[in-house]
Amino acid sequence: MPDNDPFPARWGRAVGPWRDVATDDWSDWRWQLKNLVRTPERVAELLGLPPEETAAVRGLQKQFRFAVSPYYFSLIDPSDPKDPIRRMIVPSSDEDVGEGLADPLGEKDDQVAPGLTHRYPDRVLFVVTSFCSSYCRFCIRKRNWKHSDAASTRDEIDQAIAYLRAHEEIRDVLVSGGDPLTLPLDQIDYILGHLRAIPHVEFVRMGSREPVMLPMRITDDLLRVLDKHGPIWLNTHFNHPREITEESARACERLHRSGVPLGNQTVLLAGVNDDVATMKTLLQGLLKIRVRPYYLYQTDPVVGAAHLRTSVWKGLEMIESLRGHTTGLAVPTYVVDAPGGGGKIPMMPNYLVSAAPGRVVLRNFEGAMFSYPDGGTPAASLDLPARSVSDLATGRSRRIVPRDNPHYARRDALAEERQLAELLTNAANTGK
Ligand code: SF4
Repeated sequence: MPDNDPFPARWGRAVGPWRDVATDDWSDWRWQLKNLVRTPERVAELLGLPPEETAAVRGLQKQFRFAVSPYYFSLIDPSDPKDPIRRMIVPSSDEDVGEGLADPLGEKDDQVAPGLTHRYPDRVLFVVTSFCSSYCRFCIRKRNWKHSDAASTRDEIDQAIAYLRAHEEIRDVLVSGGDPLTLPLDQIDYILGHLRAIPHVEFVRMGSREPVMLPMRITDDLLRVLDKHGPIWLNTHFNHPREITEESARACERLHRSGVPLGNQTVLLAGVNDDVATMKTLLQGLLKIRVRPYYLYQTDPVVGAAHLRTSVWKGLEMIESLRGHTTGLAVPTYVVDAPGGGGKIPMMPNYLVSAAPGRVVLRNFEGAMFSYPDGGTPAASLDLPARSVSDLATGRSRRIVPRDNPHYARRDALAEERQLAELLTNAANTGK
Protein backbone atom coordinates (compact mmCIF):
# COMPACT_ATOMS: atom_id res chain seq x y z
CA MET A 1 0.00 0.00 0.00
CA PRO A 2 1.37 3.47 -0.83
CA ASP A 3 2.27 5.93 1.98
CA ASN A 4 -0.62 8.17 1.01
CA ASP A 5 -3.10 5.27 1.10
CA PRO A 6 -6.52 6.83 1.74
CA PHE A 7 -7.74 3.52 3.16
CA PRO A 8 -5.02 2.52 5.65
CA ALA A 9 -5.39 -0.50 7.92
CA ARG A 10 -7.13 1.34 10.74
CA TRP A 11 -10.06 -0.40 12.27
CA GLY A 12 -11.82 1.95 14.64
CA ARG A 13 -12.15 1.76 18.36
CA ALA A 14 -13.07 -1.11 20.59
CA VAL A 15 -16.72 -0.94 21.59
CA GLY A 16 -19.18 -2.31 24.13
CA PRO A 17 -17.73 -4.67 26.69
CA TRP A 18 -14.33 -4.27 24.99
CA ARG A 19 -14.29 -0.48 25.19
CA ASP A 20 -11.19 -0.50 27.44
CA VAL A 21 -9.13 -2.52 24.97
CA ALA A 22 -6.34 -0.46 23.37
CA THR A 23 -7.11 0.52 19.76
CA ASP A 24 -3.88 -1.15 18.58
CA ASP A 25 -4.99 -4.44 20.12
CA TRP A 26 -8.54 -4.18 18.80
CA SER A 27 -7.15 -3.50 15.30
CA ASP A 28 -4.87 -6.52 15.42
CA TRP A 29 -6.47 -9.66 13.99
CA ARG A 30 -4.18 -11.82 16.11
CA TRP A 31 -5.49 -10.10 19.27
CA GLN A 32 -9.02 -10.77 18.03
CA LEU A 33 -8.21 -14.47 17.54
CA LYS A 34 -6.59 -14.73 20.97
CA ASN A 35 -9.70 -13.23 22.55
CA LEU A 36 -12.45 -15.15 20.77
CA VAL A 37 -15.72 -15.44 22.65
CA ARG A 38 -15.90 -19.20 23.06
CA THR A 39 -17.39 -20.24 26.39
CA PRO A 40 -21.07 -20.46 27.37
CA GLU A 41 -20.30 -18.44 30.51
CA ARG A 42 -18.82 -15.59 28.49
CA VAL A 43 -21.80 -15.55 26.08
CA ALA A 44 -24.18 -15.59 29.03
CA GLU A 45 -22.35 -12.66 30.59
CA LEU A 46 -22.25 -10.64 27.33
CA LEU A 47 -25.87 -11.26 26.35
CA GLY A 48 -27.45 -11.71 29.77
CA LEU A 49 -28.73 -15.17 28.79
CA PRO A 50 -31.34 -16.87 30.96
CA PRO A 51 -30.17 -20.21 32.50
CA GLU A 52 -32.02 -22.37 29.95
CA GLU A 53 -30.32 -20.63 27.02
CA THR A 54 -26.92 -20.90 28.73
CA ALA A 55 -27.59 -24.62 29.13
CA ALA A 56 -28.49 -24.84 25.41
CA VAL A 57 -25.22 -23.12 24.44
CA ARG A 58 -23.32 -25.49 26.73
CA GLY A 59 -24.97 -28.55 25.17
CA LEU A 60 -24.51 -27.38 21.59
CA GLN A 61 -20.90 -26.46 22.16
CA LYS A 62 -20.22 -30.16 22.58
CA GLN A 63 -21.84 -30.85 19.19
CA PHE A 64 -20.38 -28.08 17.04
CA ARG A 65 -17.53 -25.65 17.36
CA PHE A 66 -18.42 -22.29 18.81
CA ALA A 67 -16.26 -19.15 18.67
CA VAL A 68 -16.88 -15.54 17.67
CA SER A 69 -14.40 -12.73 17.17
CA PRO A 70 -14.94 -9.82 19.59
CA TYR A 71 -15.35 -7.51 16.58
CA TYR A 72 -18.18 -9.60 15.10
CA PHE A 73 -19.76 -10.20 18.51
CA SER A 74 -19.81 -6.44 19.08
CA LEU A 75 -22.31 -6.12 16.18
CA ILE A 76 -24.95 -7.94 18.24
CA ASP A 77 -27.56 -5.86 20.04
CA PRO A 78 -27.56 -7.63 23.44
CA SER A 79 -31.00 -6.25 24.30
CA ASP A 80 -32.64 -8.04 21.33
CA PRO A 81 -33.06 -11.82 21.69
CA LYS A 82 -34.01 -11.92 17.99
CA ASP A 83 -30.99 -9.95 16.84
CA PRO A 84 -30.10 -11.23 13.32
CA ILE A 85 -26.34 -11.34 13.93
CA ARG A 86 -26.91 -13.27 17.13
CA ARG A 87 -29.20 -15.68 15.28
CA MET A 88 -26.43 -16.44 12.77
CA ILE A 89 -23.64 -16.98 15.24
CA VAL A 90 -24.79 -17.80 18.78
CA PRO A 91 -26.10 -21.31 19.56
CA SER A 92 -29.69 -21.31 20.73
CA SER A 93 -32.34 -23.67 22.02
CA ASP A 94 -34.00 -23.44 18.55
CA GLU A 95 -31.32 -25.71 17.13
CA ASP A 96 -32.42 -29.28 16.62
CA VAL A 97 -29.37 -31.48 16.16
CA GLY A 98 -31.58 -34.47 15.42
CA GLU A 99 -32.52 -32.96 12.08
CA GLY A 100 -30.47 -32.42 8.97
CA LEU A 101 -27.51 -33.87 7.13
CA ALA A 102 -23.83 -33.84 7.99
CA ASP A 103 -22.76 -33.26 4.38
CA PRO A 104 -25.81 -31.91 2.54
CA LEU A 105 -23.95 -31.27 -0.72
CA GLY A 106 -22.23 -34.65 -0.77
CA GLU A 107 -18.84 -32.97 -1.07
CA LYS A 108 -17.10 -35.93 0.46
CA ASP A 109 -18.48 -38.24 -2.24
CA ASP A 110 -16.66 -36.23 -4.91
CA GLN A 111 -13.45 -35.86 -2.90
CA VAL A 112 -10.50 -36.91 -5.07
CA ALA A 113 -7.58 -35.80 -2.86
CA PRO A 114 -7.30 -34.21 0.60
CA GLY A 115 -9.58 -31.16 0.64
CA LEU A 116 -10.29 -31.44 -3.09
CA THR A 117 -13.84 -31.89 -4.40
CA HIS A 118 -14.02 -32.41 -8.16
CA ARG A 119 -17.66 -32.19 -9.20
CA TYR A 120 -17.95 -29.86 -12.18
CA PRO A 121 -15.87 -30.76 -15.25
CA ASP A 122 -13.48 -27.79 -15.30
CA ARG A 123 -13.38 -26.54 -11.72
CA VAL A 124 -12.71 -27.76 -8.20
CA LEU A 125 -13.30 -26.83 -4.60
CA PHE A 126 -10.10 -26.83 -2.55
CA VAL A 127 -10.75 -26.80 1.21
CA VAL A 128 -7.49 -25.84 2.92
CA THR A 129 -8.55 -25.40 6.54
CA SER A 130 -11.45 -26.12 8.85
CA PHE A 131 -10.68 -23.05 10.98
CA CYS A 132 -12.79 -19.85 10.93
CA SER A 133 -12.51 -16.76 13.09
CA SER A 134 -16.24 -17.15 13.89
CA TYR A 135 -18.49 -20.13 13.23
CA CYS A 136 -21.87 -19.73 11.55
CA ARG A 137 -24.73 -21.88 12.80
CA PHE A 138 -25.85 -22.63 9.21
CA CYS A 139 -22.41 -23.69 7.92
CA ILE A 140 -22.58 -26.57 5.44
CA ARG A 141 -19.15 -27.84 6.50
CA LYS A 142 -19.86 -28.39 10.18
CA ARG A 143 -18.69 -31.96 9.61
CA ASN A 144 -15.15 -30.57 9.28
CA TRP A 145 -15.28 -29.03 12.74
CA LYS A 146 -15.04 -32.50 14.28
CA HIS A 147 -13.26 -34.63 11.69
CA SER A 148 -11.70 -32.36 9.15
CA ASP A 149 -11.36 -33.50 5.56
CA ALA A 150 -9.54 -30.27 4.67
CA ALA A 151 -6.01 -30.37 3.26
CA SER A 152 -4.42 -28.98 6.38
CA THR A 153 -0.85 -30.34 6.33
CA ARG A 154 1.85 -29.54 3.77
CA ASP A 155 1.78 -33.15 2.63
CA GLU A 156 -2.01 -33.06 2.07
CA ILE A 157 -1.77 -29.80 0.17
CA ASP A 158 0.96 -31.30 -2.02
CA GLN A 159 -1.24 -34.35 -2.76
CA ALA A 160 -4.08 -32.06 -3.86
CA ILE A 161 -1.72 -29.95 -6.00
CA ALA A 162 -0.40 -33.14 -7.63
CA TYR A 163 -3.98 -34.09 -8.59
CA LEU A 164 -4.55 -30.64 -10.08
CA ARG A 165 -1.30 -30.86 -12.06
CA ALA A 166 -2.33 -34.21 -13.48
CA HIS A 167 -5.81 -33.03 -14.57
CA GLU A 168 -5.48 -30.59 -17.41
CA GLU A 169 -9.23 -30.13 -17.71
CA ILE A 170 -9.25 -28.12 -14.47
CA ARG A 171 -9.01 -24.42 -15.20
CA ASP A 172 -10.69 -22.92 -12.13
CA VAL A 173 -9.86 -23.53 -8.44
CA LEU A 174 -11.96 -22.21 -5.58
CA VAL A 175 -9.84 -22.08 -2.41
CA SER A 176 -12.15 -22.29 0.57
CA GLY A 177 -12.50 -23.68 4.06
CA GLY A 178 -13.17 -22.97 6.87
CA ASP A 179 -11.74 -19.63 6.04
CA PRO A 180 -8.53 -19.66 3.99
CA LEU A 181 -7.67 -16.10 4.99
CA THR A 182 -7.24 -17.24 8.60
CA LEU A 183 -4.17 -19.25 7.53
CA PRO A 184 -0.66 -17.97 8.22
CA LEU A 185 0.65 -15.82 5.40
CA ASP A 186 3.39 -18.23 4.34
CA GLN A 187 0.78 -20.96 3.90
CA ILE A 188 -1.48 -18.75 1.77
CA ASP A 189 1.59 -17.81 -0.25
CA TYR A 190 2.53 -21.48 -0.69
CA ILE A 191 -0.95 -22.56 -1.83
CA LEU A 192 -1.51 -19.67 -4.23
CA GLY A 193 2.06 -19.91 -5.59
CA HIS A 194 1.65 -23.61 -6.37
CA LEU A 195 -1.76 -23.12 -7.97
CA ARG A 196 -0.44 -20.29 -10.11
CA ALA A 197 2.45 -22.48 -11.25
CA ILE A 198 0.06 -24.97 -12.88
CA PRO A 199 -0.20 -23.82 -16.51
CA HIS A 200 -3.79 -24.96 -17.12
CA VAL A 201 -5.17 -23.36 -13.93
CA GLU A 202 -6.23 -20.02 -15.34
CA PHE A 203 -8.58 -18.84 -12.62
CA VAL A 204 -8.14 -18.83 -8.83
CA ARG A 205 -10.93 -17.79 -6.51
CA MET A 206 -11.05 -17.62 -2.72
CA GLY A 207 -14.09 -17.80 -0.48
CA SER A 208 -13.73 -15.86 2.75
CA ARG A 209 -15.97 -14.29 5.36
CA GLU A 210 -13.04 -12.41 6.94
CA PRO A 211 -13.96 -9.03 5.39
CA VAL A 212 -17.23 -9.40 7.33
CA MET A 213 -16.21 -11.14 10.54
CA LEU A 214 -12.63 -10.05 11.00
CA PRO A 215 -11.94 -7.12 8.66
CA MET A 216 -8.67 -6.36 10.45
CA ARG A 217 -7.31 -9.52 8.81
CA ILE A 218 -7.05 -7.53 5.56
CA THR A 219 -3.54 -6.36 6.38
CA ASP A 220 -0.97 -4.82 4.06
CA ASP A 221 1.02 -8.08 4.16
CA LEU A 222 -1.98 -10.14 3.13
CA LEU A 223 -2.77 -7.75 0.29
CA ARG A 224 0.82 -8.05 -0.95
CA VAL A 225 0.50 -11.83 -1.13
CA LEU A 226 -2.86 -11.66 -2.95
CA ASP A 227 -1.41 -9.10 -5.35
CA LYS A 228 1.72 -11.21 -5.93
CA HIS A 229 -0.42 -14.14 -7.12
CA GLY A 230 -3.19 -12.07 -8.70
CA PRO A 231 -5.62 -11.91 -10.21
CA ILE A 232 -7.34 -13.59 -7.27
CA TRP A 233 -11.12 -13.24 -7.20
CA LEU A 234 -12.65 -13.18 -3.76
CA ASN A 235 -16.18 -14.14 -2.88
CA THR A 236 -17.19 -12.88 0.51
CA HIS A 237 -20.32 -13.51 2.51
CA PHE A 238 -22.52 -10.69 3.84
CA ASN A 239 -25.97 -11.78 5.02
CA HIS A 240 -27.38 -8.71 6.74
CA PRO A 241 -27.10 -4.93 6.21
CA ARG A 242 -25.74 -4.48 9.75
CA GLU A 243 -22.64 -6.40 8.71
CA ILE A 244 -21.78 -3.51 6.40
CA THR A 245 -19.81 -1.41 8.86
CA GLU A 246 -17.07 1.16 8.40
CA GLU A 247 -14.59 -1.62 9.11
CA SER A 248 -15.98 -4.17 6.64
CA ALA A 249 -16.40 -1.47 3.98
CA ARG A 250 -12.77 -0.48 4.50
CA ALA A 251 -11.62 -4.10 4.21
CA CYS A 252 -13.48 -4.40 0.89
CA GLU A 253 -12.09 -1.13 -0.39
CA ARG A 254 -8.54 -2.22 0.48
CA LEU A 255 -9.05 -5.50 -1.38
CA HIS A 256 -10.35 -3.60 -4.38
CA ARG A 257 -7.41 -1.25 -4.41
CA SER A 258 -5.14 -4.28 -4.46
CA GLY A 259 -6.81 -5.58 -7.58
CA VAL A 260 -9.03 -8.22 -5.93
CA PRO A 261 -12.51 -8.23 -7.53
CA LEU A 262 -15.20 -8.92 -4.93
CA GLY A 263 -18.41 -10.87 -5.23
CA ASN A 264 -20.80 -11.80 -2.47
CA GLN A 265 -22.82 -14.83 -1.64
CA THR A 266 -25.72 -14.43 0.74
CA VAL A 267 -27.51 -17.29 2.44
CA LEU A 268 -31.27 -16.82 2.72
CA LEU A 269 -31.93 -17.21 6.44
CA ALA A 270 -35.22 -17.22 8.31
CA GLY A 271 -35.37 -14.42 10.85
CA VAL A 272 -32.22 -12.82 9.45
CA ASN A 273 -32.77 -11.60 5.91
CA ASP A 274 -35.97 -13.25 4.70
CA ASP A 275 -37.89 -10.03 4.21
CA VAL A 276 -37.64 -8.02 1.03
CA ALA A 277 -36.77 -4.69 2.67
CA THR A 278 -33.80 -6.17 4.57
CA MET A 279 -32.56 -8.05 1.51
CA LYS A 280 -32.83 -4.99 -0.72
CA THR A 281 -30.97 -2.82 1.80
CA LEU A 282 -28.24 -5.44 2.00
CA LEU A 283 -27.82 -5.85 -1.76
CA GLN A 284 -27.92 -2.14 -2.49
CA GLY A 285 -25.49 -1.55 0.40
CA LEU A 286 -23.08 -4.05 -1.16
CA LEU A 287 -23.06 -2.16 -4.45
CA LYS A 288 -22.19 1.00 -2.52
CA ILE A 289 -19.02 -0.69 -1.29
CA ARG A 290 -18.33 -2.17 -4.74
CA VAL A 291 -19.19 -5.73 -3.84
CA ARG A 292 -21.23 -7.45 -6.54
CA PRO A 293 -24.06 -9.67 -5.24
CA TYR A 294 -23.38 -13.01 -6.92
CA TYR A 295 -25.40 -15.81 -5.35
CA LEU A 296 -28.39 -15.97 -3.04
CA TYR A 297 -28.26 -19.48 -1.57
CA GLN A 298 -31.14 -21.48 -0.30
CA THR A 299 -30.03 -22.66 3.16
CA ASP A 300 -29.01 -26.28 2.83
CA PRO A 301 -30.54 -28.93 5.08
CA VAL A 302 -27.42 -29.18 7.23
CA VAL A 303 -27.72 -30.60 10.72
CA GLY A 304 -28.92 -28.11 13.35
CA ALA A 305 -30.03 -25.38 10.92
CA ALA A 306 -33.70 -26.29 10.30
CA HIS A 307 -34.85 -23.20 12.22
CA LEU A 308 -32.92 -21.00 9.77
CA ARG A 309 -34.35 -22.52 6.59
CA THR A 310 -37.08 -20.90 4.52
CA SER A 311 -39.28 -22.32 1.81
CA VAL A 312 -37.94 -22.18 -1.76
CA TRP A 313 -40.96 -19.97 -2.51
CA LYS A 314 -39.50 -17.34 -0.21
CA GLY A 315 -36.37 -17.22 -2.37
CA LEU A 316 -38.47 -16.88 -5.52
CA GLU A 317 -40.45 -14.11 -3.86
CA MET A 318 -37.16 -12.33 -3.12
CA ILE A 319 -36.06 -12.46 -6.76
CA GLU A 320 -39.52 -11.45 -7.96
CA SER A 321 -39.35 -8.43 -5.65
CA LEU A 322 -35.86 -7.48 -6.74
CA ARG A 323 -35.69 -8.06 -10.50
CA GLY A 324 -36.87 -4.86 -12.20
CA HIS A 325 -37.41 -3.17 -8.82
CA THR A 326 -33.75 -2.33 -8.22
CA THR A 327 -30.50 -2.07 -10.16
CA GLY A 328 -29.84 -5.29 -12.07
CA LEU A 329 -26.31 -5.48 -10.65
CA ALA A 330 -27.82 -5.76 -7.18
CA VAL A 331 -29.79 -8.91 -8.07
CA PRO A 332 -27.96 -12.15 -7.31
CA THR A 333 -28.69 -15.53 -8.87
CA TYR A 334 -30.85 -17.56 -6.51
CA VAL A 335 -29.58 -21.13 -6.34
CA VAL A 336 -30.52 -24.35 -4.65
CA ASP A 337 -27.74 -26.88 -4.21
CA ALA A 338 -29.16 -30.23 -5.18
CA PRO A 339 -28.74 -32.79 -2.37
CA GLY A 340 -26.17 -35.50 -2.77
CA GLY A 341 -23.88 -33.61 -5.11
CA GLY A 342 -26.25 -32.52 -7.88
CA GLY A 343 -24.68 -29.08 -8.00
CA LYS A 344 -26.23 -25.62 -8.10
CA ILE A 345 -29.62 -25.22 -9.72
CA PRO A 346 -30.61 -21.63 -10.56
CA MET A 347 -34.16 -20.72 -9.60
CA MET A 348 -36.13 -17.94 -11.29
CA PRO A 349 -39.70 -16.77 -11.21
CA ASN A 350 -41.34 -17.68 -14.52
CA TYR A 351 -41.37 -14.77 -16.97
CA LEU A 352 -42.35 -16.90 -19.98
CA VAL A 353 -46.15 -17.12 -19.89
CA SER A 354 -47.04 -18.87 -23.13
CA ALA A 355 -45.74 -19.76 -26.58
CA ALA A 356 -47.06 -20.32 -30.09
CA PRO A 357 -45.19 -20.82 -33.40
CA GLY A 358 -43.15 -17.66 -34.04
CA ARG A 359 -44.36 -15.86 -30.93
CA VAL A 360 -43.94 -16.01 -27.15
CA VAL A 361 -45.79 -14.24 -24.37
CA LEU A 362 -43.56 -12.68 -21.73
CA ARG A 363 -44.32 -11.15 -18.35
CA ASN A 364 -42.38 -8.19 -16.95
CA PHE A 365 -41.63 -7.17 -13.35
CA GLU A 366 -44.89 -5.20 -13.12
CA GLY A 367 -47.03 -8.10 -14.24
CA ALA A 368 -47.63 -6.65 -17.72
CA MET A 369 -47.64 -9.26 -20.51
CA PHE A 370 -46.27 -8.76 -23.98
CA SER A 371 -46.51 -10.50 -27.33
CA TYR A 372 -42.93 -11.00 -28.53
CA PRO A 373 -41.85 -12.16 -32.04
CA ASP A 374 -39.72 -15.26 -31.60
CA GLY A 375 -36.91 -15.21 -34.17
CA GLY A 376 -37.10 -14.35 -37.86
CA THR A 377 -39.28 -11.45 -38.91
CA PRO A 378 -42.83 -12.43 -38.01
CA ALA A 379 -45.56 -9.89 -38.67
CA ALA A 380 -45.88 -7.20 -36.04
CA SER A 381 -48.64 -7.88 -33.55
CA LEU A 382 -51.90 -6.01 -33.98
CA ASP A 383 -53.09 -3.57 -31.38
CA LEU A 384 -56.56 -4.94 -30.70
CA PRO A 385 -57.77 -5.07 -27.11
CA ALA A 386 -56.60 -8.32 -25.53
CA ARG A 387 -59.20 -10.59 -23.98
CA SER A 388 -56.83 -13.40 -23.07
CA VAL A 389 -53.22 -14.54 -23.20
CA SER A 390 -54.00 -16.36 -26.46
CA ASP A 391 -54.59 -12.97 -28.10
CA LEU A 392 -50.97 -12.21 -27.29
CA ALA A 393 -49.73 -15.62 -28.40
CA THR A 394 -51.40 -15.24 -31.80
CA GLY A 395 -50.24 -11.64 -32.23
CA ARG A 396 -53.79 -10.24 -32.23
CA SER A 397 -52.85 -7.93 -29.38
CA ARG A 398 -49.60 -6.37 -28.26
CA ARG A 399 -49.89 -6.30 -24.51
CA ILE A 400 -51.97 -6.64 -21.38
CA VAL A 401 -51.11 -4.23 -18.60
CA PRO A 402 -52.25 -4.27 -15.00
CA ARG A 403 -55.13 -1.93 -14.30
CA ASP A 404 -54.23 1.21 -12.28
CA ASN A 405 -50.50 0.71 -12.78
CA PRO A 406 -49.10 4.30 -12.53
CA HIS A 407 -46.38 3.62 -15.12
CA TYR A 408 -48.87 2.60 -17.82
CA ALA A 409 -51.35 5.29 -16.76
CA ARG A 410 -48.56 7.83 -17.33
CA ARG A 411 -47.62 6.29 -20.68
CA ASP A 412 -51.25 6.26 -21.84
CA ALA A 413 -51.75 9.86 -20.75
CA LEU A 414 -48.61 10.90 -22.67
CA ALA A 415 -49.78 9.00 -25.75
CA GLU A 416 -53.16 10.74 -25.61
CA GLU A 417 -51.44 14.13 -25.29
CA ARG A 418 -49.26 13.35 -28.30
CA GLN A 419 -52.27 12.25 -30.37
CA LEU A 420 -54.14 15.39 -29.47
CA ALA A 421 -51.14 17.57 -30.36
CA GLU A 422 -50.86 15.76 -33.71
CA LEU A 423 -54.55 16.34 -34.45
CA LEU A 424 -54.26 20.02 -33.60
CA THR A 425 -51.16 20.39 -35.77
CA ASN A 426 -52.87 18.63 -38.68
CA ALA A 427 -55.97 20.77 -38.25
CA ALA A 428 -53.86 23.95 -38.20
CA ASN A 429 -51.99 22.84 -41.34
CA THR A 430 -55.10 22.02 -43.29
CA GLY A 431 -57.01 25.05 -41.97
CA LYS A 432 -59.90 22.88 -40.65
S1 SF4 B 1 -17.32 -18.46 7.80
FE1 SF4 B 1 -17.98 -19.83 6.14
S2 SF4 B 1 -16.85 -21.72 6.49
FE2 SF4 B 1 -16.74 -20.52 8.39
S3 SF4 B 1 -18.45 -21.22 9.62
FE3 SF4 B 1 -19.19 -19.46 8.47
S4 SF4 B 1 -20.10 -20.35 6.63
FE4 SF4 B 1 -18.80 -21.93 7.54
